[in-house]
Amino acid sequence: MFKYVSLLNYSMEIYDKYEIVIGLEVHVQLNTKTKIFAGDEADFGAAPNTHISPITLGLPGVLPKLNKAVLEKAIKLGIALNCTINEENHFARKNYFYADLPKGYQISQDALPICVGGYVEIIVQNVAKKIALTRIHMEEDAGKNNHELDENFSLIDLNRAGVPLLEVVSEPDIRSSDEAYAYVTELRKLVRYLDICDGNMEEGSMRCDANVSVRLRGETTYRNRVEVKNMNSIRNVKRAIDVEVKRQIDLYEAGATIEQETRSFNQVDATSFTLRTKENAQDYRYFPEPDLPPVIIHPQTIQDIRNAMPALPKEIQAQLHVNYHLSDYDAYLLSEEKDISAYFFQLIQHTSNYKAAANWINNEIKSYLNESHLTFTQLPVTTLQLAEIIQLVDDNIVSSSGAKSIFKVMCEGDNSSAIAIAEKLNFIQSNNEDELNTWIEQAFAKFPDKILEYRNGKKGNLNLFIGEVMKLSRGSADPKKLTTLLLEKLG
Ligand code: ADP
Ligand code: MG
Repeated sequence: MFKYVSLLNYSMEIYDKYEIVIGLEVHVQLNTKTKIFAGDEADFGAAPNTHISPITLGLPGVLPKLNKAVLEKAIKLGIALNCTINEENHFARKNYFYADLPKGYQISQDALPICVGGYVEIIVQNVAKKIALTRIHMEEDAGKNNHELDENFSLIDLNRAGVPLLEVVSEPDIRSSDEAYAYVTELRKLVRYLDICDGNMEEGSMRCDANVSVRLRGETTYRNRVEVKNMNSIRNVKRAIDVEVKRQIDLYEAGATIEQETRSFNQVDATSFTLRTKENAQDYRYFPEPDLPPVIIHPQTIQDIRNAMPALPKEIQAQLHVNYHLSDYDAYLLSEEKDISAYFFQLIQHTSNYKAAANWINNEIKSYLNESHLTFTQLPVTTLQLAEIIQLVDDNIVSSSGAKSIFKVMCEGDNSSAIAIAEKLNFIQSNNEDELNTWIEQAFAKFPDKILEYRNGKKGNLNLFIGEVMKLSRGSADPKKLTTLLLEKLG
């Protein structure tokens, strides 16, 4: 399903000696209205440094206050990922100096985060696997430095400072770049379903750091890991891992060692470079945040959030399989996005041909949306229109290719009914026997020798006659009826 060709040739003996070990740290930027500890708007694209209250700037004497919406979204994600929610959890100061961090520390969580445990379930090559989670914690984002806009100065926009993040940390359970790809894809799907983050890695609202190490198969301890940063798409997470794995194996094979370090991935040429090594690793000197009380969550609050949760992709997939008899694969594709499954459920209000409904969505609609860079909610074809098309095909009134043409016309904005379009554009199939027979006679008259060949065993000639009648009828002959008639006449 995922078309990216690995840089690593895993069948090569050298690489096969090694096992890949990956742990991912994913930052999920929450789509709350306001920041995590201040009333400033959390949205992006505003003029630089316009959403920067004294709290965001950490001016002396101000007090942060936790945004309830952040807590709720954290609990939602924790429930969706089967985590244990810590009914008491604490904020901590992570101290470091950087120009985009006006306070000199980031408010995060350390020893007692909001969620611990849990897992992300992935499917790779038809095998399901649970990737264990270490923790999920709440924290604030830093501002943004810009080194390009001005020739002489670096510019700082602090609008992003204080925007809420959830950091999802996995155990080093991931064993290939394909698993990492599936993991991030699954996580993105979930945050979108839960409507807590738009999941756009390209725009930085979901960011993934990959911790990568390799070891000889059979080894029981992990080797030093390298953290790779700055991948702006799920595909690039996979590429960065492939490149890093190859780099490490090549080094081990050359007799070198790997030191723990942080590297930055360059997606243009698929290389990476050192950002910092262990020697200059930061010591964050975490300590309890004195300005925020412990977070105490009542069990009833968790229960209320659980009760109000939307159906998750897994449940929808199961429902599609059990109630509508769709294959696991069809059901999986339909549950990829909330808008897709919603469209399906609306569509089957108007048709009971579930398989056709699934096929239209997973094939025609998805490729149309892909080509035209539209999202599901922007699809111009209503579920009622599509159901009409399905009915016309089921009733043998239009052919499947005619149906696709009708669909295209609807995509271009024609909102008439399917039958009206079919009539206007001559897509109504003829299953009128007299008419079909006339075309068959014409076809026979054109290729009398092909009839003889057919009778002498060249059964493939049937297709030639079908094609000929289709041409004569300009596509309007009902293929089923036509085939029956032809078989009769050819004997
Ligand atoms: P830190 O606190 O420095 O970020 P952690 O021990 O919390 O380090 O690990 C961060 C991430 O690195 C986690 O996702 C973890 O699974 C992963 N990780 C830890 N050790 C290894 C290793 N040897 N190889 C690959 N990933 C690792
Ligand atoms: Mg880390």
